[in-house]
Amino acid sequence: MNKRGKVYLVGAGPGDPGLITVKGLTCIKKAEVLVYDRLVNKRLLNFTPEACEKIYVGKKPDHHTLTQTEINCLLVEKALAGKKVVRLKGGDPFVFGRGGEEAEELQARGIPFEIVPGITSAVAVPAYAGIPVTYRDYASCFTVITGHEDPTKQESALDWEKLAGGGGTLIFLMGVGNLPEIIQKLLMQGRKPTTPAALISRGTGPEQQVVVGTLTDIVEKAQSAKISSPAVIVVGEVVTLREKLAWFEQKPLFGKRILVTRARAQASELSRCIEELGGEAWEFPLIEITEPLDFRPLDRAIDRLSDYDWLVFTSVNGVDAFFKRLRRQQKDIRALSGLKLCAVGPKTEKRLTEMWLQVDYVPEEYRAEAIAAGLQEKIQPGERVLLPQADLARSILADELQKMGAKVERVTAYSTVCTDNKADLLREMLAAGKIHYLTFTSSSTVRNFVQKIGTSQIKTLLQGVKVVSIGPVTSSTARSLGLTVDLEAKEFTIEGIIAALIADQS
Ligand code: SAH
Repeated sequence: MNKRGKVYLVGAGPGDPGLITVKGLTCIKKAEVLVYDRLVNKRLLNFTPEACEKIYVGKKPDHHTLTQTEINCLLVEKALAGKKVVRLKGGDPFVFGRGGEEAEELQARGIPFEIVPGITSAVAVPAYAGIPVTYRDYASCFTVITGHEDPTKQESALDWEKLAGGGGTLIFLMGVGNLPEIIQKLLMQGRKPTTPAALISRGTGPEQQVVVGTLTDIVEKAQSAKISSPAVIVVGEVVTLREKLAWFEQKPLFGKRILVTRARAQASELSRCIEELGGEAWEFPLIEITEPLDFRPLDRAIDRLSDYDWLVFTSVNGVDAFFKRLRRQQKDIRALSGLKLCAVGPKTEKRLTEMWLQVDYVPEEYRAEAIAAGLQEKIQPGERVLLPQADLARSILADELQKMGAKVERVTAYSTVCTDNKADLLREMLAAGKIHYLTFTSSSTVRNFVQKIGTSQIKTLLQGVKVVSIGPVTSSTARSLGLTVDLEAKEFTIEGIIAALIADQS
């Protein structure tokens, strides 16, 4: 069958990945080919289907760029091959994005296309700096202008006199390189030297930097702050509102880059919390959850669940792995009838209650020693306890329960394996001082981290980096491996880590 291709010209928004539209994200999730630019947040690429071909057409490190004609050809070629092509562009595809040219080419070649507008940096970047582009008392219109045009050229496409003379807000994109000339031109054409102006670089992201001044001093201020591209230049009275309305930089973790070392499946929750608080989560999964080498012990336990009195889960992964296997055996929660349930920690409890299961015991403290002490009142000597765990889980909980006279059976429900990822990149980031915090959510993440980084350099690399641990067990592993633990969560959960990070900002 000759499948017909189609091209979606999609705006990715100005940087913050949350600023893509619902429709834009839906397109990415279905893309067979994704063609993207430099200003697109790379995290959006994670939403593509596994088989999607991702093609970068922005500037390469060697400065080679695909020409517009080459990009047009690429879109046409992929669409003619029957592919669903997403052409992802920073901001809005039709605001200085050459989206018009690409659509024209598709139209000329008879290729079906759709435009999915995006949130343009022209409006969103000032908004993240607390600058509304219009405001009743100050500006009733705004103009978005290319700052890329050489302002000294004779035949300007821009009417500088009108731009300078009009009362509205002026917003220049692509203007950092020409900043002195742009300001000069506005002054020459009569804009008041006291007019407020702002430069916002890398807006809507953790590296957002804002410089505020007037037409008289903004060039100098931008130079001394070393403002670099991409940046938006805003000229007009509305800039003064930033004093009251700046909000983004005030988020508790703004500007902080935090390494998240959980297993991939779980990394996202911690990352999401960090980002909600304005920080940048840098995911570096050190362990991956996989199936155990041998399912037989777990299968046998599932076969005779009625032999046990207690089923004790020590992690969300344990719950997931156990029920997945139960299902494999064509059983469901009815097989748990008569069993008492214990969940170590609120997340594990939540996972069980999501399945409409009533959890009989959740210890107040989430360490093996504390759980055993708490369970002492609940478990009668001689009761049988099933403990589905990770292959490398410590035996301390089982040991403690056994001491109390319980009959404990540990079965491996899942394995944690070291993932092979880019340790070099991480070392580079650490050496460049680009990481502010390391978070460790278990002893195994610490061990894997140290193994990956190598013990020889670790002291030097971690200078100025704060280590955050989820609790005393993880902390003591970290210390035994030569790390200094700067922060420890009071509650041994992701929220506990977040609380420790926030507390460290004051
Ligand atoms: N289509 C895009 C603009 C492309 S032109 C849009 O609608 O946003 C590229 C220019 O956009 C950059 O030179 C810069 O001026 C601006 N820009 C894009 N993203 C930005 C960001 N995160 N912070 C500051 N300026 C940004």
